Amino acid sequence: MFPSVSELQTLLAQPRQIFITTHHKPDADALGSSLAWASYLKKKGHSVTVVTPSDYPAFLNWMQGNEEVVVYEPRQNDRQVRDLVNRADLLFCLDFNCLGRINELGEYVRRAPGTKVLIDHHQRPENFADVSFSDPTAAATAELIFEIIRALGDQDLIDQGMGEALYAGIMTDTGSFRHPSTSRNVHLIIAELLNAHIDLASVHRRIYDSHSEIRLRFLGYILKDKLTVLREFNTAYIAVTQQELRDYESKTGDTEGLVNYALSIEGIVLAAVFIDRGSAVKISFRSVGDFSVSDFSRNHFDGGGHHNASGGVSNESLDATVDRFVGLLPQYQAQLVSTPVAPVPV
Ligand code: 5GP
Ligand code: MN
Repeated sequence: MFPSVSELQTLLAQPRQIFITTHHKPDADALGSSLAWASYLKKKGHSVTVVTPSDYPAFLNWMQGNEEVVVYEPRQNDRQVRDLVNRADLLFCLDFNCLGRINELGEYVRRAPGTKVLIDHHQRPENFADVSFSDPTAAATAELIFEIIRALGDQDLIDQGMGEALYAGIMTDTGSFRHPSTSRNVHLIIAELLNAHIDLASVHRRIYDSHSEIRLRFLGYILKDKLTVLREFNTAYIAVTQQELRDYESKTGDTEGLVNYALSIEGIVLAAVFIDRGSAVKISFRSVGDFSVSDFSRNHFDGGGHHNASGGVSNESLDATVDRFVGLLPQYQAQLVSTPVAPVPV
């Protein structure tokens, strides 16, 4: 299935020092695919370290291997991480498509002497890897990791912990099996993971039902007071200030999923969430149908991602960013208004 599997087989034919990294603010797919891949490589006799370019939400900290993850903190462990990068024979880059997505680590990885392997499902990967498994039709990087382990003839090595990490990645990246990326193959893979005795209900609970009370109140406040709906553009957006993040004691991951509420309104084709992180405004875009938020964020907000789910960044103020976004909409009006949206059941 992948032309590079034989290359990978050769690279892994003897014990290696392996460095695995994934994107800034890892989500369940980023962390789940990295940790499952790390478990697999350890079982094959390699020395493996997973390094994330930032911290990640507490609702992901149950995954097998979590306690060994090195979270890169430029002011604290720069030397340790640089050594790991430079000593690695193999560097696996999972669930991101350009080195800018791993912050300062990007340049270290670019200059690293080891062989770089990309495993990813985002559109338009930057050409930095020596070996590439890039498939934008895949629902999740976790799907690719499953396929690669199977292609290497080692499906039997997938244990419950690896299976649950992979399941978490596929479940979240498919929006709990409802996005169009949820192929027949995705369901067949889940059936295979069930053979490894994964506990679906428990993974779902650990990810979606483990929020703090204040996070739910934050959500209530945002939906009541901060949602703007522009009917003439079939667009809804939310802008969150730094003060609001402080008021609700926001932690990493607390704003995840907000954008889906904006998209859940009948007739909405484009949804956006703007979060003022102080250093920059971080943006999430979602769409339904033909409107490509991957193109939109690449063209206007220095971002990218998938056709219907993307992200970007702005160095202007929150207000200026939102104004610029709203100012762009008229040029897309025809597309936004003509995009057929699935009828809402009555
Ligand atoms: P989210 O909105 O969940 O942060 O991101 C949605 C998708 O867009 C994810 O697949 C994520 O990897 C990608 N993405 C988010 N932010 C950026 C960004 O700043 N640049 C690029 N290239 N992709 C992004
Ligand atoms: Mn992913």
